Formats: sequence, C-alpha cells, structure tokens
Amino acid sequence: MTLPGSLRDMPPAELFPEVYARDPHHQGFARGGRAAALEALARLDPVTYGRDRSSLDGHVSRLSPYIRHGVLTLAEVRDAALAHVPATAPSRAWKFVNELSWHDYFTRVYAQVGELVWQNFQPYQTGWPQSAYSYDFPEDIAQGTSGLACIDAWSRELRETGYLHNHSRMWLASYVVHHRRVWWQGGASWFLTHLLDGDPANNNLNWQWVASTWRAYPYLWNRGNLQKYAGQRYCAECPLASGGCPFDATYAALSERLFRGKKAAPGGEGHLDPARLQAVPWEPPPAPEAVPDAVVWVHGDRLSPTHEALTAYPDRPAVFVWDDDLLRQWQVSAKRQTFIHECVSELPVHVLRGDVAGQVAAFARAHGSRTIATTPSPSPRFTAIVAALESEGFTVQVWPEPVFGASLTPLDLRVHGDYWRQVSASAFGKPPAPPKPRRAQAKASG
Ligand SMILES: Cc1cc2nc3c(=O)[nH]c(=O)nc-3n(C[C@H](O)[C@H](O)[C@H](O)COP(=O)(O)OP(=O)(O)OC[C@H]3O[C@@H](n4cnc5c(N)ncnc54)[C@H](O)[C@@H]3O)c2cc1C
Repeated sequence: MTLPGSLRDMPPAELFPEVYARDPHHQGFARGGRAAALEALARLDPVTYGRDRSSLDGHVSRLSPYIRHGVLTLAEVRDAALAHVPATAPSRAWKFVNELSWHDYFTRVYAQVGELVWQNFQPYQTGWPQSAYSYDFPEDIAQGTSGLACIDAWSRELRETGYLHNHSRMWLASYVVHHRRVWWQGGASWFLTHLLDGDPANNNLNWQWVASTWRAYPYLWNRGNLQKYAGQRYCAECPLASGGCPFDATYAALSERLFRGKKAAPGGEGHLDPARLQAVPWEPPPAPEAVPDAVVWVHGDRLSPTHEALTAYPDRPAVFVWDDDLLRQWQVSAKRQTFIHECVSELPVHVLRGDVAGQVAAFARAHGSRTIATTPSPSPRFTAIVAALESEGFTVQVWPEPVFGASLTPLDLRVHGDYWRQVSASAFGKPPAPPKPRRAQAKASG
C-alpha cells in the first residue's frame, strides 16, 4: 500500500486555508519547537517569580505552551527551576514548583474523569441554578467591544497572542460567569480556541474553580484588586473609570449584587462522584521492551525530539497526524496551528491528516508493522484511538514520561492540597516521603 506524501513541510496556511482566512492572527506570543522552548527555559527566574508572579508585570515563565504540548516535560522544567537555587535551599523555588504541580494535578484528574471535565462537578455555589446561566457567549466579550477597558484588553490579548497572565484569566473568567451569568463551558471553549496552552484539563478545571462548580465559593475580584496587580493601565483609559465601573465595589457588595446566596440552588446536581478521585495509582506502567518492527506515533501532547518512543526507536519510521475532527471541534485558531506546526516540523516524522486511528494504522501497515509505539496522554480521545488500533490487531506500546511527583501511596486527588502533601518531597527531587500531616491534624497532635 502506498502512503500519501508527508505534509510536514507544507505551511499550515495552505493546509488549513479556512482557519487562516478566519483568524487574522497567524503567529502567537511564542514560537514552537524545542529550540524556542529551551530559550524560554533559560530565561526562567523562579526566585523572583515567588515574589511577584501575581502581578501582570511579574516574572512569569510563559512556558505553558511548551509544557502543554510536551515540548518540555514538567520534570525538566522543575529541574531547571531547582538548578537556580542552592541545593540546601530548594524552598526558594517553592512557589514555582508548586504552580507546576497544579498542571500535574489537573492532568491527573482529567485522566480519571475524561469528558466529565465538560460537566459541572458540583452545582454552582452562587444560589443560581444552571438554568440561570446563558448558553450564548456574548459577542461583545468575544470581539472586545464591551466598553470596559480591562475586559476588552484581555479579549484582544487572548485573540492576538494566545496568552493571558493567570490573573487576567481569572478576572476575565469571573466576569464572564458571574457578571454576565454565562455558563463557564462557553468561556472555556473560547479560551481553548485561542490559548497556545489550551487543554481541557487545565483550562476547564480552572474555569470550574472560578465558577464554583469545583470549589466552595465563586471567585470574585474588584477594582482595588485589579489596580494592586495591574496598576492603572486599564482604568487610566476606561470611559467608566469615573462612574459606572462594575468592579468598583467591596466584595460584600459585589457578592450581594451578583449572587443569590453562598451555596447551591435547591435541586442542583453535580456530576462528579469524588470517590473516583480518592485512591488513584500514581505510577506509570513500566517501559515496554523494544521490538524490531515498531513504528512510532507522535501526538500533540509530546512534540519533542526527546520523545520517549522516538528515543527508543531512533531508526524506525514515525508519524504525526493532524486530527481534523478535533481541530474543527475546538475551532483551533491559526496562531495555535502555527505553533503546533513549528513543533512538528522539527521532528523526524511523516505528517498525515484526517482520522487519527485510521491514518496511524495505514502508516503501520505500509511499513509492515504490527506494533505502534507512543507516549501517554490523559485525553479520552487518546484512549479511544488506542482501543481502535488494538481492535485492528495492533499492539500499542506506551512509553512512559518522567514522573513529576512520586508518592508512597495511591493519590488522593479530591483536593490539590492533599495531592501536594503526597508528592511534594518527590517534586523537589527527593525520594517520595509519607504525606505530611494536614495543618489542623499537626496542631492537634502537637
Ligand atoms: C480560566 C483559566 C483558564 C486556564 N487555562 C489554562 C490552559 O488551558 N492551559 C494551561 O496550561 N493553563 C491554564 N490556566 C492556568 C494558568 O493560567 C496558566 O498555566 C499560566 O498562566 C501560564 O502562564 P505561564 O507559563 O507564564 O505560567 P507560570 O506562572 O510561569 O507557571 C509555570 C507553569 O505552571 C503551571 N501553572 C501555573 N498556574 C497554573 C494553574 N492555575 N493551573 C494549572 N497549571 C498552572 C503551568 O504549566 C505554567 O506554565 C488557566 C487558568 C485560568 C484561571
């Protein structure tokens, strides 16, 4: 069987002309690929980060697109952070390593719950029922024409660069869900289209956190909070600065205005049974044994020349497939396609497009192979593709990635604090240790 020629060197604007026609922003804030990732990693300043990360001008790393697409692993970013501080004082990089742990945590939760990340884990804790939230995403937010200088600036930055500082994401998400009463899934889809780091784990679970569908109370902010971390840059040019600013109020007044109480409306339903997150094995399956005839399948969660299966099979053919269905479903923006293309074009892969399972199977058959080697992904789509390949008689080998945080016990993922107590020793490069006691328990026993 003959394979179609590789699309690796075809510019993405030719591959996806409709996307590039629709989205005028073809290049995001970061260039794709390992060389660009290592340059960004070399600029990391984890110590100053610990002091000023909440400020819009703080020393945030902007590494998220590389982490999201596996150009860098969390473990190597952590190692780079620890290399900045004396071995005797790893806690000077504490805040940065702790932030990385959120990525690991959300990814692990996603691996457990799959598509449920699109459903409210619990009802909104705002007193409003689900039916009070609009399913239509407001055009003025999407286009940046709300008339609020801060909201419009973040909307523009998101669409033009594919990046927002964490604080801007929280502020914008809170505005969408709580001020405009739009369901969080609408905002999450908008972010997923534009963010270079967008993924259903970290995106949706942060939206659920802001919305209060996975947290005891909704996230709110006010003008004082904005000015503390952003200065005057927005208010100085906002027509509503001297009257009519919806954020110019105390938290108590905002809460009174926006919510109907501080708990769920009667009859509200949640979709997550927390028991699913209670005792989750942390360790990856062992590395498989290399076989002579394998082909390698590289997917979008690990776009690096350090890819474990590429490394195990340096001389075997490898394939990457543009997942047309997923790109359409997420309405992935041009700048994000460019980023992915830049990552892929550094790799020794044959590039195809279409139905992923079908294309990978055709590639393996064309090379006379029954074994497909790849790396893990928390995505339910990955699980479905692996199942489809296995049902066609292929053996799929999953080569594990370095672990960010090992534990002595199965992980309790119900809340981040408990997960962190279990993995933090290992996340700082030490052998895994018994979970530190919770603060309250430590007090009681002391
Ligand atoms: C509504 C909303 C949506 C978000 N969507 C995404 C998303 O789709 N993808 C994504 O990677 N992050 C998402 N985040 C988390 C966070 O905002 C970004 O990871 C961070 O802003 C990326 O910038 P940075 O690399 O400069 O981060 P830094 O502050 O330098 O942090 C270093 C790394 O730690 C991890 N990290 C930091 N904060 C968080 C966090 N709150 N949750 C999870 N990981 C974190 C990221 O991998 C990040 O690259 C979202 C946050 C919110 C509030």
